[in-house]
Amino acid sequence: MGKAEEIINQLKNLDATVTRLGHIAALLEWDQETYMPEGAVEERASQSALMVGLHHEKIVDARWENLFSELGYDGSANPEGFDDVGTAFLRESYKRWKKQTRVPRNLVENLARETSLAQAAWAGARKADKFSAFAPNLESIIGLEKEYAAAIADNSDADAYDTLLDEYEPGASAGEISTVFDGLAEGLRILMDKIRSGNAPETGFLEKPYDITRQDAFGQRIQNFMGYDIHRGRLDLSAHPFTTTLGPDDVRVTTRYDEKLVLSGLFSNIHEAGHGLYEQGIGQNLRNTLLADGTSLGIHESQSRFWENTVGRSMAFWDRWFDDFKNLFPENLANVDVRSFYRAVNSVQPSLIRVEADEVTYSFHIIIRFRLEQALISGDLKVADLPGAWNDAYRDLLGITSLNDADGCLQDVHWSVGLFGYFPTYALGNLYAAQFTRAMEKDLGPIPALLGSDRADAILNWLRENIHVHGRVYSPGDLCRRVTGESLDSVYFLDYLNGKYAGVYGF
Ligand code: ZN
Repeated sequence: MGKAEEIINQLKNLDATVTRLGHIAALLEWDQETYMPEGAVEERASQSALMVGLHHEKIVDARWENLFSELGYDGSANPEGFDDVGTAFLRESYKRWKKQTRVPRNLVENLARETSLAQAAWAGARKADKFSAFAPNLESIIGLEKEYAAAIADNSDADAYDTLLDEYEPGASAGEISTVFDGLAEGLRILMDKIRSGNAPETGFLEKPYDITRQDAFGQRIQNFMGYDIHRGRLDLSAHPFTTTLGPDDVRVTTRYDEKLVLSGLFSNIHEAGHGLYEQGIGQNLRNTLLADGTSLGIHESQSRFWENTVGRSMAFWDRWFDDFKNLFPENLANVDVRSFYRAVNSVQPSLIRVEADEVTYSFHIIIRFRLEQALISGDLKVADLPGAWNDAYRDLLGITSLNDADGCLQDVHWSVGLFGYFPTYALGNLYAAQFTRAMEKDLGPIPALLGSDRADAILNWLRENIHVHGRVYSPGDLCRRVTGESLDSVYFLDYLNGKYAGVYGF
């Protein structure tokens, strides 16, 4: 064995420990969100904090520094003699080690304390519909986020927002995203004018009660159709649906059901299984390494949204599944035909609340948050002026006026837990999904033709080979260029929406 190879093996052993500790911490969190008795909450917080501490210790272990220097690797150039996986392993492990060692301990502690206080303040302020009760906490979190960005940045003149964004969408910059989002906003504005002049679908039958046991049975059939492997996964219930990886052969999803919100439950099932498929499809060669993960939140979201929207809200999907669905709920759907159902599933309605938004208006909610959080970080927007700026943006982009803070700038938990730079990844997911779909159709032909059978194997295999198997080997930008031959462009998403909604709304 050569010396370099020996060093790499030692680095991989260190990384396997970090990865396994991460999985164990995730198991504690999964349990807390699903089955843990309420009374255990305090002790569980201590257990989780202990695991997070151990995990961090292993990431900043002095052996990393020694091994990197023995290898002569300083993260600045691609090392010679390594394939794509080896290069990515060094790049990502070095980046993680460097970042974590740069954050002073008191900053970590301040962030943990302030975000915990801020979450409580946010929940109270939201309940009381009073932004001013949360404003001081937000102010302090923004200050700490800027400190954090300055601590981890490679150079002192790096833009703070870009540095924060890189945590979720590596390599992306606010400038590039702004350009993409400006084009998207303009295209969506034109589409919304057409939709407003079109024929709105009838949706009354979706508002009737749908038995939860039957909702669950149907949701599981669809997850099986998608190819989600229940022998290496689980489906459970939680207040907020999520996907978590507890090991290379243990990728779990959760959902929630509400009798009066049948689509919300079904599309949560599909969305989370889409995330789960990405994790289940990661290459065996990456097992228990830090590369065995989605390459960014935007790419992860492209997988969940592809299945949820491009597949689950398509005419071809319902041509295949509507009869089964109708047989489960004859009391609600006896007089409904598949075309009316498909149109109802794709009803568009500008609304105040992001998580309830449809496929067309959703991106507006993100564009608004992206612009506002950039301004908060740069200081161009004062915290006290946030509610006003929020309402102005909703009036301009969605044509609606937020009547209160609770349904306005207090609706999302993200900023209270210090997630700045996270929101844009939701909209990037839609854009990546549309661009990947175009590439898939070049290889496989039109997607509707692939949805007629009992399993969507052809689609899943394509996603596996082109995206899932690579984990984090390629950055999101590089992956997009490898798969589609181009950088991210909003034109594909706008084309997709225009084609689809011309049919739904008859314009
Ligand atoms: Zn998601």
